[in-house]
Amino acid sequence: MEILNDYIKSLCGAGRCGQAPSPEMTAYAANLDIIAKSYPDIARAIIRELLDQRSYLKLIASENYCSYAVQAAMGNLLTDKYAEGYVGKRFYAGCDNVDDIERRACDEAKKLFGAEHAYVQPHSGADANLVAFWAILRHKVQTPALERLGQTNLLNISDTEWGEIRHALGNQRIMGLDLYSGGHLTHGYRHNISGQMFDVHFYHVDKETGLLDYDKLRKQLLEVKPLILLTGFSAYSRNLDFECLRGMADEAGAVLMVDMAHFAGLVAGKVLQSRYNPIPYADIVTTTTHKTLRGPRGGMVLCTKEYAEYVDKGCPHVLGGPLPQVMAAKAIAFEEANRPEFQAYAAKVAENAKALAEALVKRGINVPTGGTDNHLVLVNLDAPGITGTQAENAMRECGLTLNRNTIPGDKNGPWITSGLRLGTPALTTLGMGPDEMKEIADIFADVLAAVKPKLKKNGDPTKTEYNLNADVKKRSLERVRRLLDKHVLYPELDGAFLSKYL
Ligand code: PLP
Repeated sequence: MEILNDYIKSLCGAGRCGQAPSPEMTAYAANLDIIAKSYPDIARAIIRELLDQRSYLKLIASENYCSYAVQAAMGNLLTDKYAEGYVGKRFYAGCDNVDDIERRACDEAKKLFGAEHAYVQPHSGADANLVAFWAILRHKVQTPALERLGQTNLLNISDTEWGEIRHALGNQRIMGLDLYSGGHLTHGYRHNISGQMFDVHFYHVDKETGLLDYDKLRKQLLEVKPLILLTGFSAYSRNLDFECLRGMADEAGAVLMVDMAHFAGLVAGKVLQSRYNPIPYADIVTTTTHKTLRGPRGGMVLCTKEYAEYVDKGCPHVLGGPLPQVMAAKAIAFEEANRPEFQAYAAKVAENAKALAEALVKRGINVPTGGTDNHLVLVNLDAPGITGTQAENAMRECGLTLNRNTIPGDKNGPWITSGLRLGTPALTTLGMGPDEMKEIADIFADVLAAVKPKLKKNGDPTKTEYNLNADVKKRSLERVRRLLDKHVLYPELDGAFLSKYL
């Protein structure tokens, strides 16, 4: 908290106080006043979060800063409306305005991504994946089974027939990228429902190069012959070739599902085009809306017309009632992402990630795959001999917020980990460029060299505790402060205003 209080003082000292408030600041102030009147602790937590995000370099690859308009769309009476079902087919009365909002969001999404169909209700990326899994299962397993019985309605079949269909639904094969290779836990990890629903076969990146071997993947795919080939990632820094993936999915008779949660903004911003854009190749594409896409926290499914009727039944099949306020925010975010400014932003995100990776490699940091094509950079911590947990905590002490991550073949497991993941979407939104990335890589490398694991009584290194050189920490915090002073998050919200609520 010390850094936060210092920061407020420095803002006031820098003369941002006392300026005429902008319309955004007036709106923010009005909202916070309403909350603070009865719930000062909650107003304080919101302001402290703003100050936290202003006081640290946000290098978490999955986070961003959305616009005022997106935030405002989420804080209003739309939250009071139930609207189970989908546009024009609701289980509740009085949904005309929600219909307009959902239709607008779907239209904006289709326009932005050139998709045949969009479903904007999923509350998160994990939910979007569940909707997609069940759309595929219903279309490819349940409907044909019903047809074989000469039925269309599940309620008209016997308990025995239903038992057989349920067995078939629960025993389909899926192939997903292993968590240690950069896959997501919703791609078949045993501790996630996806791993419990499917017979999962993981594919892996090469341990040495960190790259996906398409020939090996094709061979495995033809052997396993899964219902679904699921691609996409949380921590893979190279392009995926969707033309190639489509070809092998066709050969194996698999549905091609792509989870573009991380790189949707780079698709929207036309950084990833032709064979690197999943939309023309995949049957179903899922995404979050809050990472590189810079919208509200939420999920979405895009698909071909073939899957549309199944995807639209996501609520009430696997989702609870939709959040109209978030669908409104999604419509705004998609419209924003369709502007030339967003294309320029997306190009900068990738350019910054390249600059960051190059500068890290120059400082001797082990970057699996040697660099990046997208918005994220993975760092292997085997050489400095510290764990992801130790590095993450030390970086935070030095003003950098980023997260630990597994690396291929990780010997420390998914909780402690042996790697870090860095990303450029948020800092690019703040206006930072390649020069700042070089400075950040330098700070990062200095901190990494200044962290040493604490030793246990028997002399072995601990996996969580560490010593950090105090001079390096002080110098790093000063350098971080200098960077952030030039790139203030929501600069309209000045120190005098903020300190009122602390
Ligand atoms: N899919 C991928 C590839 C992700 O990286 C993530 C989140 O990190 C998700 C799905 C889940 O998104 P959410 O946290 O919105 O459920």
